[in-house]
Amino acid sequence: MKKHIGSCLCGEVLFEVSGDFKAFYLCHCSRCRKTSGSAHASNLFIKEGELKWLSGESLVKSFFLPNTRFASAFCSSCGSKLPMSGGSGENKIILIPAGSLDCAVEIKPKGHIFVGSRANWDYELERVCQYQELPK
Ligand SMILES: [Zn+2]
Ligand SMILES: [Zn+2]
Repeated sequence: MKKHIGSCLCGEVLFEVSGDFKAFYLCHCSRCRKTSGSAHASNLFIKEGELKWLSGESLVKSFFLPNTRFASAFCSSCGSKLPMSGGSGENKIILIPAGSLDCAVEIKPKGHIFVGSRANWDYELERVCQYQELPK
């Protein structure tokens, strides 16, 4: 099984996920836009894999949006999004925010989802000027 490592911004939380990435979706739903603070969440999924906290597990907090199936895990020190696992056996699934990984991802996103909730500024972004760093 493949292994990938990742961490939060403050560096207190380190994790390792094992298993093959089965899906990679860019989610534009309003909940993912809120929790990411951006145009979309970038979520990788592993089925029947393993999520291991290498450090900082006590800092990992989960938020469950009442009356929905939506949940989000994050570092309570720096706020970075972190992986979470749910289900068991054949239905076990691990969601990994792609930006939390400290290694290369060998698959490309499979699609944009919940585009009905897309932000009104989130169109043709490849055509916007690109800078190596913050422009002067
Ligand atoms: Zn942190
Ligand atoms: Zn979403």
